[in-house]
Amino acid sequence: MHELSIATAIVEQAGEIARADGAGDVTSVTVRVGELAGVVPDALHFAFEVARDGTSLASAELVVEQVTAVAWCGGCAAEFAVGMPPFFWCPACDQPSQDLRGGRELEITAVEAVH
Ligand SMILES: [Zn+2]
Repeated sequence: MHELSIATAIVEQAGEIARADGAGDVTSVTVRVGELAGVVPDALHFAFEVARDGTSLASAELVVEQVTAVAWCGGCAAEFAVGMPPFFWCPACDQPSQDLRGGRELEITAVEAVH
């Protein structure tokens, strides 16, 4: 299950961020997950509960912010949602666009810890 390696990386990174900040136990971690990141939020939550065991994140909560996948249409000068599975075609002007502007995110955006 590749969510487990992702959750392990999240636990390690969040722990390092808290340590660098001189903090103790982590209470919550917020991650942004793009629609196209290939991560199933439910599986990530489950994997996080396994990965956090015995770490400074043992009682931390995982908050997943899902990001809609969008592409940029030059003709409309606007973004459009590509959907899932992604369809790179602007619905407004009926033109193809491969210019993905969001949806592959997989990043920690916030770490809260006890000081
Ligand atoms: Zn367009």
